[in-house]
Amino acid sequence: MTEEETSQEVKIYSVKEFFEDVPPGRDTHVAELSETGLYVSDNTIILPEISLHCSDSACNGIRLFKATKNYELSKGGQNFFIYYKCKNCGKTSKNYALWAYLNDDRKSGLLYKYGEVPEFGPPTPAKVVTLLGSEKDYYFKGRRSENQGLGIAAFAYYRRVVENQKNKIFDEIIRTVKKVDPSNKTLLEELEAAKKETQFTKAVESIKHAIPQALLIDGHNPLTLLHAALSDGLHARTDDECLEIATSLRVVLTDLAKRIANTLNDTAKLKTAVSRILQRNGQPKVFSKARVDSTQDASN
Ligand SMILES: [Zn+2]
Repeated sequence: MTEEETSQEVKIYSVKEFFEDVPPGRDTHVAELSETGLYVSDNTIILPEISLHCSDSACNGIRLFKATKNYELSKGGQNFFIYYKCKNCGKTSKNYALWAYLNDDRKSGLLYKYGEVPEFGPPTPAKVVTLLGSEKDYYFKGRRSENQGLGIAAFAYYRRVVENQKNKIFDEIIRTVKKVDPSNKTLLEELEAAKKETQFTKAVESIKHAIPQALLIDGHNPLTLLHAALSDGLHARTDDECLEIATSLRVVLTDLAKRIANTLNDTAKLKTAVSRILQRNGQPKVFSKARVDSTQDASN
């Protein structure tokens, strides 16, 4: 194999990408693992600052994390525990157990994560846990499988969650439609009828009308996205492909739960705001069409 062919097949990561984006359980080639100093023993692992979710109440979002000390790497493979801490609050830590191998060039190398605490990936929002209800144990088993690179297992767990929570997912969507678009009787009837289907995929297929804009993910119906991921045949797929589909399933499910919660929340806030204005003014001020038009004319 030529050098060119090798570089085409092997994806090279940065150390930052390795910590942030690579789940445990995979050999990962990294470009700049070490700084070679003047002395043979001086092979310090390059540990850049990384962006992670900090769950401390002072942060509660993506923050920069910094390694707490330096680590020396001798030639050949070695095991490490690497500790990172949130630079903003100084409280939240992230710990990695990994194996590192420095190549002969004493610059590039190979990394392998045994595990990390807190676990790989973004935290599961409380809204998602609510939507999952009694299926949350399967969901967390799916997360664990996904983190360990067990694609088929992760997919199977997430599929089980969606199938078993079909009624809850539909109920929540119905609740949202009733709040944001209550006059859309056709869609509401369709959703109620779909809920009676035994399979999630069959239920989604029976829906012909568009769901509210606020629930769309990047312009797509989340139910259709879940349907597409679920009906992709597991048997013909490799473990890695199943892992990708499983991750997509989780991301769509999480996003849908957040959108439902936000839409219901916004609707409630909007109602409060409207009623406050009405109470303060005694009655709503009505801006006539003519007044609006004349304002537009003046600005032109
Ligand atoms: Zn923090």
